[in-house]
Amino acid sequence: LHRNAGEAEFHQAVREVLESLGPVVAKHPEYTDSAVIRRLCEPERQIIFRVPWVDDSGAVQINRGFRVEFNSALGPYKGGLRFHPSVYLGIVKFLGFEQIFKNSLTGLPIGGAKGGSDFDPKGRSDAEVMRFCQAFMTELYRHIGEYTDVPAGDIGVGGREIGYLFGQYKRITNRYESGVLTGKGLTWGGAQVRREATGYGTVFFAHEMLRSRGRSFDGQRVVVSGSGNVATYAIEKVQQLGGVVVACSDSSGYIVDEKGIDLEVLKEVKEVRRARLTEYADLRESAVFSDGASVWDVPCDVALPCATQNELDGAEARTLVGNGCELVAEGANMPCTPLATAVFAESGVMFAPGKAANAGGVATSALEMQQNASRDSWTFAHTEERLEEIMRSIHDRCLETAEEYGKPGDYVAGANIAGFIQVADAMLALGVI
Ligand code: NDP
Repeated sequence: LHRNAGEAEFHQAVREVLESLGPVVAKHPEYTDSAVIRRLCEPERQIIFRVPWVDDSGAVQINRGFRVEFNSALGPYKGGLRFHPSVYLGIVKFLGFEQIFKNSLTGLPIGGAKGGSDFDPKGRSDAEVMRFCQAFMTELYRHIGEYTDVPAGDIGVGGREIGYLFGQYKRITNRYESGVLTGKGLTWGGAQVRREATGYGTVFFAHEMLRSRGRSFDGQRVVVSGSGNVATYAIEKVQQLGGVVVACSDSSGYIVDEKGIDLEVLKEVKEVRRARLTEYADLRESAVFSDGASVWDVPCDVALPCATQNELDGAEARTLVGNGCELVAEGANMPCTPLATAVFAESGVMFAPGKAANAGGVATSALEMQQNASRDSWTFAHTEERLEEIMRSIHDRCLETAEEYGKPGDYVAGANIAGFIQVADAMLALGVI
């Protein structure tokens, strides 16, 4: 513990995985003999750097940048960058650790990493965001590359930021190395469906869970938290599959729209104006904005937490269960606290952990890397079909593995065990490195 002192989220993520591995180490002593688990918990490399930049008033600002390259047994390091004031080493390490198992579950050749900065993009001008991204890449560029480490977006890092980061990488290296970042724009090396992938993938996964019980999204009442990239496209896919999303949120509060969220209005407010959800309520008569209370008070059949870690606690889980919620799939990383997951387990709520349910984002990033490597570009329909297949295969693998290790129907155990075995076997094969 003293080695990773104060890194609460990292401890939480590691504990959750290790709790699932009992039946695996009982069956496979070779993992313990070669210290695979202890090696997995120690990042291969951690980079922390100063990011100095000049704001619009001419003042020098200093932020801290991170890249934690956690595990490269399966392929080049891969994982997003997060720009949010709460970012510190413990958050980056929890996300990097989760990423190892998630990437393994996709079945694609990618290792695990994560990075970011405590920079707060809120209220910053476009020019400030650009200068910050340029300063961030001025250090990061020496650590990344198509065969080494391939960052992508996460909270606070979307298409605009990836553009500025890629521009600076290209300028410094004098290489148009498309495969160095994913989440690029469609006219400069990006791939169809990447923007939609995490949200769509989460809903594809939840749909498979419903289908395994002979059900579908048709007529389901759904609550989604967040209103960023993952939330927006989760809402879009639920609507396409016949569900009704009645609420979503941001850090200022949440809206309930009993007529169903109007996606055009939501995208205008969030993607174009980069404004708060209160503006959605101003534009749409059927919507009511609430600050203070929790979005999880809104009754629903299906809950999709798509904002941030530990945003749904034990009491909120009990409220959801009391209101008749039957399925929770994590679009965000670790949004449910350990108490919340325990409540879902004891109440028989179907529950999918983020490392399985939100793996569609990184899987489609790996498809973007494939297209960059072959200088090809696939259609939307073809890429979406691949994404759906991948989500179905992750779903089935979680269920089969859970069954094999004596935990039928337990998606948490299935995801942790299946993700672990693949990366552990690769580590054994590569020797003690
Ligand atoms: P965005 O920045 O696009 O959106 C984040 C959303 O969550 C915003 O609505 C934001 O509200 C809200 N939010 C963020 N932090 C907090 C907080 N501390 N309290 C309350 N609300 C908060 O990020 P993404 O949609 O990309 O990411 C959302 C989650 O999904 C994260 O957990 C991320 O790690 C995970 N994820 C993302 C992937 C991707 O492809 N983008 C892939 C896999 C997982 P506000 O704007 O008010 O801050």
